[in-house]
Amino acid sequence: MTEAKKHLSNRWKSYGFSTRAIHDGQEPDELTGAVTVPIYQTSTFAQESPGKTKGYEYSRTGNPTRLALEKSIASLEKARHALAFSSGMGAILTIASSLRSGDKILLGDDVYGGTYRIFTKVFANFGLDCEFVDPSDIEAADQKLASKKIAYVLIETPTNPLMKIVDIHAVSKLAHENNSRVIVDSTFSSPYITTPLGFGADVVVHSTTKYLGGHSDLVGGAVAVNDSELYERLKFLQNACGAVPGPFDCWLVLRGIKTLSLRMEKHSRNAAAIAKFLYEEMSRSKKIHSVNYPGLPDSPGHNIAKKQMKLYGGMMSFDLGREERTVSFLKGLKLFSTAESLGGVESLAEVPGIMTHASLPESERRKKGITNSLVRLSVGIEDEEDLVQDISQALKLAR
Ligand SMILES: *Cc1c(COP(=O)(O)O)cnc(C)c1O
Repeated sequence: MTEAKKHLSNRWKSYGFSTRAIHDGQEPDELTGAVTVPIYQTSTFAQESPGKTKGYEYSRTGNPTRLALEKSIASLEKARHALAFSSGMGAILTIASSLRSGDKILLGDDVYGGTYRIFTKVFANFGLDCEFVDPSDIEAADQKLASKKIAYVLIETPTNPLMKIVDIHAVSKLAHENNSRVIVDSTFSSPYITTPLGFGADVVVHSTTKYLGGHSDLVGGAVAVNDSELYERLKFLQNACGAVPGPFDCWLVLRGIKTLSLRMEKHSRNAAAIAKFLYEEMSRSKKIHSVNYPGLPDSPGHNIAKKQMKLYGGMMSFDLGREERTVSFLKGLKLFSTAESLGGVESLAEVPGIMTHASLPESERRKKGITNSLVRLSVGIEDEEDLVQDISQALKLAR
């Protein structure tokens, strides 16, 4: 069976998300009946005679645990193909390696810091030309696309840390009219909440470190596509560049995926409760200046979010107006740890201006509204009342 064929199994297609998350790509092991995909912790595979393999030669090229993960992610994204990588950046690095010197890429102006860095500080040296646009401003995006020949548009939605919503369908339509392809970094949503290929995107990227893994215990990445030619090219590059995940990390992501739907439901419910509390608090207290959560009915992207998101997710941000108040708020939290990253079962809080987004020039941060009093929350799956209570008591302490 060719690699491409292996990805096209139809057996689970008609089943719902949670069923596919538990079964697709993860049928009981043919040899032993093990109901969990075995961890094939091996670098190489014995050949019956030179060149006669059982489908695997060397684990950079292919490994059964990794293939199970790739099938699972393809299934969740309703994609024909998926590839797993050693990190989200490894996935983006591999996509960028498919471009040539002189090619142009249009990036959302508040993409993940590491994405900004790899294009401006690494691929710029290889002659890749990157431009930036506010992707929630469709007219501005249209102008950029029409004026230049752009190979790829890369967007994130919701954006980090201001939770702006980008209309995947509108951006994809514009891009296709201009012969460009669209990459959606869907890390913040996870495939349970949004499947970007269904809205016209060409490539989906994930940092599986976040919601797919879900337990803050691994670093990984993934790419999903429908176009078989693009898949073959990326698969070639996956092997050629070598940013592949180890079998154990693949297994951890597979394990996380089995509970993805339950976790996303709970993350979203908890985040909605906190957003509602903060929003109501905003009218009672002068301490809160803004609350950014796409589930709030009067948030700017709410209508587009309703169209392309099943739930509103576990990420949110809010502005406490003053840096000292923000620092004392974080110190007062008992359940939220002050830490970077997101998407794990435990609740985290951070100040993007000082932590995750510190590498952006201050003028850029100010222009975007990323102040040193903006708090970003990755809301975990603890009890809703406990989390709201924690936020409430820390807010009382913060002057
Ligand atoms: C974390 C993250 C990445 C990078 O992923 P790593 O697994 O840390 O390499 C890319 N995009 C987004 C939106 C992220 O949150």
